[in-house]
Amino acid sequence: MNGGGGLGAKLHALRLELETLKIHGHEYIDGVLPPDWLKRLDVKKKKQEDSLEKITADIRECKLCPLCKTRTQTVPGVGNPRARLMFVGEAPGADEDKQGEPFVGRAGQLLTRMIGAMGLAREDVFIANVLKCRPPENRTPLPAEVEKCEPYLIRQIDMIRPEIICSLGGVASSTLLKTETTISKLRGNFHSYHDTPLMPTFHPSYLLRNESAKKDVWNDLQMVMKRLGLVAPAEQGKS
Ligand code: URA
Repeated sequence: MNGGGGLGAKLHALRLELETLKIHGHEYIDGVLPPDWLKRLDVKKKKQEDSLEKITADIRECKLCPLCKTRTQTVPGVGNPRARLMFVGEAPGADEDKQGEPFVGRAGQLLTRMIGAMGLAREDVFIANVLKCRPPENRTPLPAEVEKCEPYLIRQIDMIRPEIICSLGGVASSTLLKTETTISKLRGNFHSYHDTPLMPTFHPSYLLRNESAKKDVWNDLQMVMKRLGLVAPAEQGKS
């Protein structure tokens, strides 16, 4: 028994306070608790110090791998900093390398239409890639490149804290989920990326070559929409 408004209630309130602290980081009570307490309570100081602008600036001057020598420019990511939904692709292609924006080529135009079919616009979501620089000839990213570049993506996800991540294709899905399972087996079900639901689906470039896989992707996106409480424009008004 918790003794009404006594010790039990105070403990409960303290526990709630600690959970809030862990979620919001220690800027929530900065200066109230001594630093060694924060350490002992495992409350992180981090979120407030980073920003999407800082991540973009770090990417722009990145020289961590040899792709910095062949890129025209970096492609950090684009969209709503408070997006509920984040798309993650593989790496910029030629068009993205020229324009500095992800998914603007043929595959990108298809992604834009897919986002539209969900009742959203590019400006509503956040779009990023595992690699922020184009691999020559659009080859698959090397493990060493992914290792150097992935921390930027992790910081972006950490800042945006989307409700759902949709990984596009095998490279993005296996990088985020740390699995070697193929995209065909992963897609169609929600997985978890550090407690954020993640839906892997086929990459739009694959859809350009395999029209018949579009229905699978639409199925995956509908699962995402259901979780977000979205209704496709084509379905609106029907019931
Ligand atoms: N393919 C990707 O994975 N990302 C892009 O930005 C463009 C094409």
